Amino acid sequence: MANYNAKEVEEQIKQFWKQKKIFKFDSSKKEKIFSIDTPPPTVSGKMHIGHSYMYSQMDFIARFHRMLGENVFYPFGTDDNGLPTERLVEKLKNVKSKSMKREDFINLCTKTLKEITPEFIQDWKNLGVSCDYDLAYSTIDENSRRLSQKSFIELYKKGLVYKKEFPSLWCPECQTSVAQAELEDKEIPSLFSTLKFNCEGKDLLIATTRPELLGACVGVFVNPRDKRYKSIVGKKAKVPLFNFEVPILADESADIEKGTGVLMICSYGDKYDAEAVNRHKLSPKIILNLNGTLKIKPYEGLKIKEARKKILEDLKNANLITEQKQITHAVNTHDKCGIEIEMLPTAQWFIEVLDKKNKFIEQGNKIKWHPEFMHKRYDNWVNGLEWDWNISRDRHFGVPIPVWQCKKCKEIILSDEKDLPIDPTEIKKKCPKCKSEAKAEEKVLDTWATSSITPQIASSLVATKEKSKIVIPFLLRPQAHDIIRTWLFYTTVKSLLHENKIPWENTMISGFVTLGGEKMSKSKGNVISPQDVMKSYSADALRFWAAGSKLGEDLDYQEKDIITGKKLETKLWNATNFVFMNLKDYKFKKPAKLEKIDELFLNKLNELVESCTESFENYEYSRAKEQTERFFWSMFCDNYLEIVKKRIYQNKKGKESAQYVLYNSLLTLLKLFAPIMPFITEHLYQEYFKKIEKTESIHLIEWPKADKISKSEELDLFLEILTKIRQEKSNNKKPMNAECVVTLSKEEYENIVEMLEDLKDVTCAKSIKTGKFGVEFI
Ligand SMILES: [Zn+2]
Ligand SMILES: [Zn+2]
Repeated sequence: MANYNAKEVEEQIKQFWKQKKIFKFDSSKKEKIFSIDTPPPTVSGKMHIGHSYMYSQMDFIARFHRMLGENVFYPFGTDDNGLPTERLVEKLKNVKSKSMKREDFINLCTKTLKEITPEFIQDWKNLGVSCDYDLAYSTIDENSRRLSQKSFIELYKKGLVYKKEFPSLWCPECQTSVAQAELEDKEIPSLFSTLKFNCEGKDLLIATTRPELLGACVGVFVNPRDKRYKSIVGKKAKVPLFNFEVPILADESADIEKGTGVLMICSYGDKYDAEAVNRHKLSPKIILNLNGTLKIKPYEGLKIKEARKKILEDLKNANLITEQKQITHAVNTHDKCGIEIEMLPTAQWFIEVLDKKNKFIEQGNKIKWHPEFMHKRYDNWVNGLEWDWNISRDRHFGVPIPVWQCKKCKEIILSDEKDLPIDPTEIKKKCPKCKSEAKAEEKVLDTWATSSITPQIASSLVATKEKSKIVIPFLLRPQAHDIIRTWLFYTTVKSLLHENKIPWENTMISGFVTLGGEKMSKSKGNVISPQDVMKSYSADALRFWAAGSKLGEDLDYQEKDIITGKKLETKLWNATNFVFMNLKDYKFKKPAKLEKIDELFLNKLNELVESCTESFENYEYSRAKEQTERFFWSMFCDNYLEIVKKRIYQNKKGKESAQYVLYNSLLTLLKLFAPIMPFITEHLYQEYFKKIEKTESIHLIEWPKADKISKSEELDLFLEILTKIRQEKSNNKKPMNAECVVTLSKEEYENIVEMLEDLKDVTCAKSIKTGKFGVEFI
């Protein structure tokens, strides 16, 4: 018999699913709808191992619910605008967005996406992710742009969106404002220098890590309880090198214990500086350009780090440094580029969230979290919010903000909803109030401002008359834990503000993949490509591995786990072929009476079905996989198949009973494996079962039901005895088919009396006696 050719089979099965539209969502069906807010992956060349891990896990759940008979709504989108896409296109095409015309860069992005997206999506199909790929969207397509702009306008009309110019988070590398959720804490080394300010001829020492901001100094703080400095409060301090004077103010924020206890306030070193400037009504001095260079003499044109170096040299030469030490401290960097974030005053658009923290916590409590411990991460994020949600970006490729602003009276002019989607830069508007010319908003929406309405986008894909069927809340949001603070939180925000609802009833959160306990990264070179794994082994083997950990847990990639999956694949193939060799004359009918051991075996199988169903219902696919796998290898292959083999070969009494149980238990096992290993199970079903079962695909067939479960202790005893006999044979170096005479205790003998013939068959016992347990060889 030929071996299982996974590559060939998986290709055929993929074609079969596509042609027969096995995973097509049919809104006319009456069944309960299981709606999934599928994560749209960020288009980035190729699926990575983390994707394959997470999408496999959500697919286990989707396939299980489909087999339960539910009508699974499982769309597929791609997230393909905003900074991640811009950075990808810049890299692929070797261009810089900021140095191109807006229109040219947008066209280049659109063109590039067209080139790379089909191949990108193919990886998901290859993995067997059972989405309805006809229910497709991109977060920058016309429909998404329309809905995203509509969301903006609605929230603006509700008074929940505002535009404000004030110091906010700015990435000088990407040259855009960023949101709090994009900040990444990084521990970096820095030089902590104590500088000589001057107050009435005396040195006033201040320690800082940011001497390049000296020219932006607007004040000096001392703590009102700090006795050392009581006498100088209200006086002026002279800034070293620059020699202008700033007020010395008493403020609680100066930490008596830190450095010299004196704090310099720059506009703006960080959020606290910005607040301090505001609190004391100081006039800010902005010395940074948006591209992160200084605009103050004599350091004009230098980048922040170059300026820092130069200023320290100048301070040293002027003998203005008294002490320097190397420290490590946490700074905010931008998660997209790794560069340190600055604070710069620019006009940005915000959605009000800070005043609704309690509401968001309440919404989070209404969602069922799988696993529950992930809920805490959401609460922590909400409680730690310090900024309203900044939704505007100073970039090109994103959903345009559909507004104009009057150049004279500053009136904000919204686009008409019926004109959406629009790009305001393409349309000239006059102010309705003063008739002056209005300026189009050139900023675009951050990508999360659009992907936060994926439930609304997904439900809009269904034909209008059926729309009412896909309602918010959806049943399930699957995603990874690193975007709880962004995608999960923002979607919760939008659903609350628009619909006053939670977006989904359940969320399942996947962990990460590691290699040797470490996070994989291209820079470290420790990356496993899922495409290679699928090519060398199979998609089923990769999925088998992905089912190896509990939901929410990180999983180390180990090739041995893939190999275990591959072995299971081979065993399923071999066992099924073997079973059907024994079913050649089977009539596919239930015999009037089942043999005792067959009945007990079905009982055991029922226990498995019950436990697997419960596990899948609780998102515990790894437990279901593990139990099914164990049952299949041990109960089914090592024991049951061996026990009934002779009964069938030798046409003994009870042959039909064995055939009936073999057929049905194997089918049940394939069904239980189907969500995890969809290709091989489909293949074996098509080969052997479909002509009897009729249902088009194993993935549309009904999930097995556990019949009434009765006790199967006698089977346990039978297997215990079987193990003992096998052990005796092995102790005596006899082959398993060595003929023998078995002696059982009277009690054992009586308990399995109805199964003695089976015991004889499987142990090659000539006879079974009672007495002291033993095996004699003849
Ligand atoms: Zn950046
Ligand atoms: Zn006006």
